[in-house]
Amino acid sequence: MKWILFLGALIGLSCGREKFFGDQVFRINVRNGDEISKLSQLVNSDNFKLDVWKAPSTFSRLVDVLVPSVSLQPVKSFLKSQGLEYSVTIGDLQIYHEMDSIAGDFPDLASRVKIGHSFENRSMYVLKFGTAEGGRRPAVWLNAGIHSREWISVATAIWTARKIASDYGKDPTITSILEKMDIFLLPVANPDGYVYTQSQNRLWRKTRSIYPRSRCVGTDPNRNWNASFAGEGASDNPCSEIYHGPHANSEVEVKSVVDFIQEHGNFKCFIDLHSYSQLLMYPYGYTVKKAPDADELDKVARRAAKALASLSGTTYQVGPTCTTVYPASGSSVDWAYDNGIKYAFTFELRDTGHYGFLLPANQIIPTAEETWLGLKTIMEHVRDNLY
Ligand SMILES: [Zn+2]
Repeated sequence: MKWILFLGALIGLSCGREKFFGDQVFRINVRNGDEISKLSQLVNSDNFKLDVWKAPSTFSRLVDVLVPSVSLQPVKSFLKSQGLEYSVTIGDLQIYHEMDSIAGDFPDLASRVKIGHSFENRSMYVLKFGTAEGGRRPAVWLNAGIHSREWISVATAIWTARKIASDYGKDPTITSILEKMDIFLLPVANPDGYVYTQSQNRLWRKTRSIYPRSRCVGTDPNRNWNASFAGEGASDNPCSEIYHGPHANSEVEVKSVVDFIQEHGNFKCFIDLHSYSQLLMYPYGYTVKKAPDADELDKVARRAAKALASLSGTTYQVGPTCTTVYPASGSSVDWAYDNGIKYAFTFELRDTGHYGFLLPANQIIPTAEETWLGLKTIMEHVRDNLY
């Protein structure tokens, strides 16, 4: 009887709130009335804004609760302190689901392509946007989440994916871009790290690879590309946040992208989304030497930054990576540039450090919207200057 009464307390709250990035679904195993009582306490607290998706029944004592990203830590602490058993059922899966759903909603334009897998064997998918059958049309690569704690880059990429698909045929700019080029978008370039930031350590940056005789886990996947590998701005210490890995392309996540891009052979633009600092940069990161196309890239980047700022005044600094932020060898955009992909850019998205990596959810859409204006400006230039 007591069991039934507590059920009521939980069921009353099951009104589906939409799931947002960073939110997670916890599956909690309530083993007795006492545990249900503790759980009701948690669910009824206004502070956490929880939403019960599935209440316990006579058949199952598993409760599914949607936990908003801001409540993850306190809710985990509460569950631990009360000895309640739980697991995270939806974390990274949500992104793959959204990719599927975009491909399903726009079957003539978008498709999901598997390009490889991660160290922990998670599938790596890109969304391909293209209007022509077959052929290797000139293409744009949009990369996000290579540093796993930079969640805003992942969220921006997913928002951008839906924007590309839904604006095609309505917005003349993106329509004309897609008439000439394909766009490939990889929203989670470091899936193991991303899951780890959701479940263990919000500020994890690297991959989760393990090498024999190494004391520490993970390689910085943005020091692992074959562009002045192991040069300035990377570390050979496996415990460092900027460890370059045992050799170039040692990280299967990096290797998968490299293989895909080389196999394709007609990429003209490579854009890597990071956070934070509000910077728009171009090669090189590994040397202060001026890139042969620096003048053109600088002009394009300044136009893109201006377009971005036009929405809500967010200002970006523009320049070559090495002198704008710091020297960094083995980075994705330097590799792209050195391999003939002239239009290579790195965005460091919002903010400038107030929230840093923990940008609040209410800035996701504004960030994505303004970034879109910058991305479009770059892609327009590529469209008009194919080489
Ligand atoms: Zn980064």
